[in-house]
Amino acid sequence: MDAYDVIIVGSGPAGMGAAFEIAQKRPDLSILILDREKYSTGGMRNDCKMNFTYPIGFPQEYWNEETAAEYLDDVTEFLAPSILEKSNIEIYKKRAERLGCTLVDIRQSHLGTDGGLLLIKQLLKRLEELHVTLSLGEMMVSVNDEKRYISTDTRDISYKKLLIAPGRKGFHFLQMMLQSLSVPFVDNIVDIGIRVETRIEHYPIVKDYYDPKFYFDEKVRTFCTNSGDAHVVKEKYTTARGDTWYSVNGHAYSAERNKANGLVNFAILKTVKLTEPLASGQAYAENLGLQAALLGGGRPLMQRVGDFRLGSRSKDSSFNSDYFNFAPSLKDCCPSDISLAMPSKILRVIWKGMKNLDTIVPGILHPSTIMYYPEIKLYANKPVYLDDNFRVTGNVFLAGDGAGTSRGITAAWASGMRASRGMISTL
Ligand SMILES: Cc1cc2nc3c(=O)[nH]c(=O)nc-3n(C[C@H](O)[C@H](O)[C@H](O)COP(=O)(O)OP(=O)(O)OC[C@H]3O[C@@H](n4cnc5c(N)ncnc54)[C@H](O)[C@@H]3O)c2cc1C
Repeated sequence: MDAYDVIIVGSGPAGMGAAFEIAQKRPDLSILILDREKYSTGGMRNDCKMNFTYPIGFPQEYWNEETAAEYLDDVTEFLAPSILEKSNIEIYKKRAERLGCTLVDIRQSHLGTDGGLLLIKQLLKRLEELHVTLSLGEMMVSVNDEKRYISTDTRDISYKKLLIAPGRKGFHFLQMMLQSLSVPFVDNIVDIGIRVETRIEHYPIVKDYYDPKFYFDEKVRTFCTNSGDAHVVKEKYTTARGDTWYSVNGHAYSAERNKANGLVNFAILKTVKLTEPLASGQAYAENLGLQAALLGGGRPLMQRVGDFRLGSRSKDSSFNSDYFNFAPSLKDCCPSDISLAMPSKILRVIWKGMKNLDTIVPGILHPSTIMYYPEIKLYANKPVYLDDNFRVTGNVFLAGDGAGTSRGITAAWASGMRASRGMISTL
């Protein structure tokens, strides 16, 4: 059987953060990184805007400001980001405050989807130079922690320490691993909302602040703003029963490509915490996703703000070149009535958030603005951790978005580093 001191499952930022930390501090250890995709998919491939201010990306149940700041210093030193300048935000801040909302001032960098890919290639090369073994296109399927080996789709491999960092897409896989390791967990929190797309002139704040983070009442917030050469995309999810649904998302290419389409998109999400008797956020989210897919003929839904205000569904004719003056960047989407699919409580607070936003940055409620539904974030597996380094058994650690220890690239990187420090201390 092949054997490594450390196996890291997932080559996203959590896996990479861990691999660099171990390879640099303990070059004597053998390290293997596995990824089920043939190329490193990790989340850095999409837009790759990085946030360097607490609490963005850092779930507060695992990170206090001091700990996060300590790790963020290390992440910043390693990734050497070029922080974006911000301007004119005082006026927006004041308007937000008057409405009881908050505009959070975040240190950000932005590489774009193309720049993120370049960064991944450079990082993988550096890992190889540090003698880390990479196996792309190999999927972990199970773990035997008593005998300390994992099985992949091609072989068994033994470990001294194992880090599982499979990201949001590995949410279901991680739940299976937790069950097989007898690690208790809950997944009772989920973010549900819409993605808004409009012309930059209707949301001009992005010229001053790339990804403005607004916090509204009732756990509603803006999230993941993309502009310039910005696109809405759909992500496919499959339930355990084999049914398919889509969540929308967004990304942008770097300014260097000079292909600006004049659009901006961002999510506006509400955090929903479920209590007994419905404990699984994933099950709830799946049902909402399936309901949207049912109404959309298997596609996500989109509605112009103008139609929504009139209480009418959008139709193909809502996407014309007349008043509705831009075409949706996500083509494979169904003109519809999102209020038929969205729970009213969620829709109500999100619409309220949008009205507040339109008062702070006038323009966002232009009739041409498109609301895409659903945008759902499943990143709240909450396992019972045995220590501060995200250890779940004697030798198994977790990190990243799938494990609930992060909600973004920089925090995922930090959580991988934190887990790896736990691994190193016992090797
Ligand atoms: C469209 C989109 C845009 C985004 N934009 C941003 C952004 O601009 N800024 C930001 O901070 N965050 C962004 N995010 C979120 C960001 O991608 C995540 O927070 C981050 O990637 C989480 O890192 P991770 O290492 O936990 O997981 P991931 O980056 O998802 O990496 C997990 C890896 O594990 C692999 N894997 C899963 N299961 C297995 C298995 N069984 N065996 C082997 N390998 C497996 C996957 O293939 C994947 O490569 C975006 C996400 C999406 C989808």
